[in-house]
Amino acid sequence: MSDVPKTHPRYLSLTLRDTIVAGVEQGITSIHGLIAHGRGEAFDYLIGEATQPFAIEAIHAAAAMLRLAEHPVISVNGNVAALVPDALVTLGQALNAPLEVNIFHTETGREERIRKHLLKHGASNVLMPTTEAQLSYIDSNRKFVHPEGIFKADVIFVPLEDGDRCEALRKMGKDVVTVDLNPMSRTAKQASITIVDNVVRALPLLCEEIRKLTDSTTQDILKKYSNEAVLQKALQHISRSRNGNQRKREAEHR
Ligand code: ATP
Ligand code: MG
Repeated sequence: MSDVPKTHPRYLSLTLRDTIVAGVEQGITSIHGLIAHGRGEAFDYLIGEATQPFAIEAIHAAAAMLRLAEHPVISVNGNVAALVPDALVTLGQALNAPLEVNIFHTETGREERIRKHLLKHGASNVLMPTTEAQLSYIDSNRKFVHPEGIFKADVIFVPLEDGDRCEALRKMGKDVVTVDLNPMSRTAKQASITIVDNVVRALPLLCEEIRKLTDSTTQDILKKYSNEAVLQKALQHISRSRNGNQRKREAEHR
């Protein structure tokens, strides 16, 4: 870990960088994952590095959708395994849902290292990709899934999803709940529910919301939810904060 003083104004952001770098060093996160993380950081900067109301709205709907699911599954890639292993395990327990390893960049042993990492953090059921079950509409490594996991799932929680697979899952009639800091990504637009927030902030909130839900309100929350409207609010927020920063800079130069 690098020596970032707690008083540094970007302490949290820099600590997260250390965590994702440690993920690469442990062979859990792909080196390409660092680039994806950087893209996330840029959007996090734009949304103010805090959970905004549009994310809270999506978290409520996500909790309802996952609670109502018959066969929910949590898909895990190398970035989320490094950033939020404990919260993934807690979510699996809250939903009684398996975790399933599913990565884009194949590297020898990485899937197995992710599985072991999750088991070390207390997971009891970690499914692995197989050649027995394959997703339609997709050519990458991510098409290989577990017959009792993603293949059978009606709702899949896939933080930091790849646009291609999100589209494939939707075409197969499955609902997708994602966490993506970029409200313009293909994933964000195609998912059933998009939580525009950093996965490290959103996941603990989602677990808490699932615990708080009562059966009488779940259907209602989902009926009222519009993912398009939520993404629009995220874009408006980014655009307002950009104007705000611009005004601040102009004032400084006066
Ligand atoms: P798409 O295919 O959906 O258009 P992409 O392929 O362009 O997306 P990638 O770089 O493959 O995007 O995946 C990274 C995505 O995950 C980006 O949209 C990025 O904003 C988001 N992301 C990265 N780190 C985080 C994080 N910690 N929390 C939430 N989202 C994140
Ligand atoms: Mg992609």
